[in-house]
Amino acid sequence: MTAAPAHKRILLKLSGEALMGDDPFGINRATIVRMVEEIADVVNSGVQLAVVIGGGNIFRGVAGGSVGMDRATADYMGMLATVMNSLALADSMNKQGLVARVMSAIAIEQVVEPYVRPKALQYLEEGKVVIFAAGTGNPFFTTDTAAALRGAEIGAELVLKATKVDGVYSADPNKDPSATRYSRITFDEAMSRNLGIMDATAFALCRDQKLPIRVFSIVKPGALRRVVMGEDEGTLVYA
Ligand code: UDP
Repeated sequence: MTAAPAHKRILLKLSGEALMGDDPFGINRATIVRMVEEIADVVNSGVQLAVVIGGGNIFRGVAGGSVGMDRATADYMGMLATVMNSLALADSMNKQGLVARVMSAIAIEQVVEPYVRPKALQYLEEGKVVIFAAGTGNPFFTTDTAAALRGAEIGAELVLKATKVDGVYSADPNKDPSATRYSRITFDEAMSRNLGIMDATAFALCRDQKLPIRVFSIVKPGALRRVVMGEDEGTLVYA
């Protein structure tokens, strides 16, 4: 008999870069397929999963702003990049037997359906994966904030922040061999130690809502499953 997941509903935040694999930009198909295999494994174990995906593999507003573009326009481009990533992710999920629905914070109804909270909740109850596209729908925010916002809205028990490192360390583990991983840390401790876990707006929202964040590695095989099963994987940030 397989053990039951430790969580009923979770929100997974993937950065756009997670889709690049070893490519310098864009979407690497093999990387998505591998990631979706791990996602399918946890969804099939009965957990309700919502996903927020970033757009940094395609376009970031701050990059447009730094070369003289109007920042808000550049941010809308960034949000549209997250829609492309969402479509690629949903396509791969559907091909691997999951039922994925993309909901966008910006109306583009010929492409994906708009975000409607009760509909998202209904899909989750039905075991569908809901991918929240276009961030918060507002410039000057990030998809980390969208993850905190949607996570709070759908009553997720946990926000999973996927990174390339397997948790939060006392120092940069690539530079300092004595760096140690925090297994658990409170929001206050993380703040006082200046550990960059999510951007400040996202972090503050999770902290206010007492919505725990678990930082884990998306490139470590089996890590997502261990997180969902409640094992000591990555770092838990809690109130
Ligand atoms: N973005 C935005 N508002 C949001 C979410 C995202 O304006 O609510 C824009 C912003 O320009 C950002 C880009 O979309 O740079 C891509 O998102 P993000 O940088 O969060 O992606 P990630 O770093 O996770 O790949």
